[in-house]
Amino acid sequence: MNEIRKNRNIGIIAHIDAGKTTTTERFLYYTGKTYKIGEVDEGTAVMDWMDQEKERGITITAAATTCFWKGHKINIIDTPGHVDFTAEVERSLRVLDGAIGIFCGVGGVQSQSETVWRQSEKYKVPRLIFVNKLDRVGADFFKVIKEIKVKLSSIPLVMNIPVYDKDENFIGLIDVLEEKEVIYKGNYETEAEVREVREENLEKLEHYRKILIEMVAEVDDYLMEKYIEGKEITKSEIKRGIRKGTIENKFFPAFCGSALKNKGILFLLDGIVNYLPSPVDRGRVYGFSIDGKEKIDRIPDENQPLSAIVFKVYNDIHIGRVLYTRIYSGKIRKGQKVFNSSRNIKEKILRILEVHANKYQEKNEGKAGEIVALIGMKKTYTGDTICEQSHPIIFEPLEFPEPVIYVAVEPKTKAQQEDVYTALSKITEEDPTIRLKFDTETGQLIVMGMGELHIDVIIERLRRESKLEVKTGKPQVAYRETITVSSTGEGKFIKQTGTKGIYGHVILQLEPLERGKRFNFESKVSSDKIPPEFIPAIEEGVKEGMEVGSLGGFPVIDIKAIVIDGSFHPTDSDGVAYKIASTIAFKNAYQKGLPILLEPIMKVEITVPEEFLGEIINDLNFRKGKIDNIETHKDLKVIISRIPLRKIFGYTTILRSLTQGRGSCIIEPLCYERVPEEELNKIIIK
Ligand code: GDP
Repeated sequence: MNEIRKNRNIGIIAHIDAGKTTTTERFLYYTGKTYKIGEVDEGTAVMDWMDQEKERGITITAAATTCFWKGHKINIIDTPGHVDFTAEVERSLRVLDGAIGIFCGVGGVQSQSETVWRQSEKYKVPRLIFVNKLDRVGADFFKVIKEIKVKLSSIPLVMNIPVYDKDENFIGLIDVLEEKEVIYKGNYETEAEVREVREENLEKLEHYRKILIEMVAEVDDYLMEKYIEGKEITKSEIKRGIRKGTIENKFFPAFCGSALKNKGILFLLDGIVNYLPSPVDRGRVYGFSIDGKEKIDRIPDENQPLSAIVFKVYNDIHIGRVLYTRIYSGKIRKGQKVFNSSRNIKEKILRILEVHANKYQEKNEGKAGEIVALIGMKKTYTGDTICEQSHPIIFEPLEFPEPVIYVAVEPKTKAQQEDVYTALSKITEEDPTIRLKFDTETGQLIVMGMGELHIDVIIERLRRESKLEVKTGKPQVAYRETITVSSTGEGKFIKQTGTKGIYGHVILQLEPLERGKRFNFESKVSSDKIPPEFIPAIEEGVKEGMEVGSLGGFPVIDIKAIVIDGSFHPTDSDGVAYKIASTIAFKNAYQKGLPILLEPIMKVEITVPEEFLGEIINDLNFRKGKIDNIETHKDLKVIISRIPLRKIFGYTTILRSLTQGRGSCIIEPLCYERVPEEELNKIIIK
C-alpha cells in the first residue's frame, strides 16, 4: 500500500496555447528525464511526439509519460486542448486521480478552459491551478483568480504571489506558506535566491496567509478548534489541511509563474506531490457484474483481484499496438493471460512498458494505481475492462460524442483502396470519435469526425504515417433524424419453406427522447408471448432500422423503443426472424412518429481585434448565427456564438480574409437541433 501512496496520476487541462506542452516539458526537465529543454515553437517538445503535432504545435493524441519527484512517481497524461478532440480529454479524465488546470495570465479563463474545467468537475477530479505566462505584458494573476471564482464558481487557494521589479518585470514569487520570497536569478529556476519578504509585500502576504489558514481550518475540525482558540497551526498541519481540502474538491491550490521562463515550475511539482491525491485517496472504484445487474467495487490494492481499464490504443510503427491501461486493483504480469470482460475474450500480455515521453521502459509487472502500456492484446479496444476471469467486473464504458461531419475519401490509385482502408481503420481504433463507413451506392469510403480540423488531421496522418495520398470530397453535414410523437408499429416475418417454417412477430412502441440521449431499449412483453432469448435479436433489429431513417435516409437518434407485444411459434421462431420482424416494426412505427430532421449546431468562438467586430457580426447574422456573448480581452473582442454546421464550412479561411489574418476561431460541436422548415427541401431530395 505504501508504494501506491507515492503515485500521482495527473492530467494537464487547458485552453489551447495556455502552455500545457511547455509546462510538461519543464516537468520532464526538472525531474531529470530530458537534458535539453524542448521548446514547442521549435517543434522539439518531447510530448508532441507525433510528427504532425510538431508541425501544428498542438497535442492531438494523449500520451502518457512518467517522471519521478521527491520519491514520488508522477504519471502525466497530456490531454489535448483543442475541443475538436474533447473526447480525448474525457477519456483521460476518467483514469486520472488529479489534474492541473493551466490558465494564461493574459487570456484568463478562456472558453475552452471553461469547458474542460467543467468536464473535470463531472469526474470530481481534484485540481491545482497554474496561472502561466506571467512574464507577458498585461498578465494579471489576481484578475485570473477572480475570473476562476466568477466564471468557474471554484475557490482558488492562493499559494504564490508574483513579485515584480520596479520596471514591472516578473522576477519571482512569494511562497505564502513558507513566508519567503524566491527571486529567480539565472535562466533556470534552480538558480534562485530565497529571501525574507520585503516590507512592501508584507501586507499582501498577511492577507493571503490569513485566507489560507481560514480555508484550511474550515475543512478540518481539529484545526478549526485550534484556530478559534487562537492557537498556532503548524506548517505541517496547514499542508495536511490543504491536501484534505484539495482532495475533497473544497478548493484548488493556485500557483503561478512562467513555464517558458522557468519560473514557478518547482512549486508546482511540489504541489503535485503534496496536495494531489494518490490512487488510495481516490478510493474505491465502481463497476458492474457481467450481466450488468449488480454493482461491485474494487479497492486500490495490489493484493486484490486484477481490474483495469484500457483508455487509449496507439499503433506505434516500431512496436505495434500499444494499449494505455490504468490498473485499479491487483497486478498484471508479463506473459499472463487476462480476461477482457467487455468482450468476453482472453488475451495474452506479451510486454509491459512504462512510457517516458517518446521512450519505453520494459517492466515485468504493473500494479494497482499505475498507468502502463501493454503489448500483445489484439482484440481489446479503448474503453474495455480487463480483469481476472475468476473475479469479473466491467467498468462503465467510455462515451464518445456523435461525429457531425463526413467526407468521402478516395485513393489516388484503385490499387491502394485496401491500404487506405487498413490505415484508416488503425487511426479509427486510436480515436473512437472517428467513424468509417462504406457507401455501397457510390463505392466510396466515408470518414466521419468532429469538425473540419479533425478530418484534416486524419487525412494528414494517412499521408505521413502510411505514405498514402488520397482525394477527399467536399465535407458534408452528418444530419440525423428523430420522431416527435410516440407511435407503434407491427412487424411480421413468417414464411413456410419446405417442412420448416420461419416465424417472428413483434409490436414496438417508439417514444421521442430528449436531445442527446441517443437510444434506449426496453421489453415489456411477457415471456409466454416472446421468449426472452429472442429479445436481444429484437434490439438488434431496431438498431439496424435506425441506421437509415425514412425521412431523408439519415441515421435515427434520440429514440426509446419498447417491445409491447408479439407472438412466437414453438418450432419455427428464431433470432433472425425476430430481427427482421423488428426492423419492419420499427420502420412502420417510425413513419407514424412524425419524423423531423436534426442538424449539428457548432459553438463558435471568434477572437478579433475590436475594429473588425462590426464586420464579423454582420457576417454571423448572414450565416444565421446566434450570438451568446461578446467579451473584451484588452483590445480584442471574443464573440461566442452558435451556428449550424452547414453555414460555417471553411470559416477559418473566410475569417482570415475578413480580418486580414488577425482573427482566430475555435469551432466545436454543441448539440443537434431541428432543421428549420424552409431549409428542409434543400437537404432532402424528395
Ligand atoms: P499548449 O497549446 O497549451 O500545449 O501550449 P504550448 O506549451 O504549446 O504554448 C503555447 C505558446 O505559448 C508557445 O508559443 C509557448 O512558447 C508560449 N508559452 C508557453 N508558456 C509561456 C510562458 O510562460 N510565457 C510566455 N511568454 N509564453 C509562453
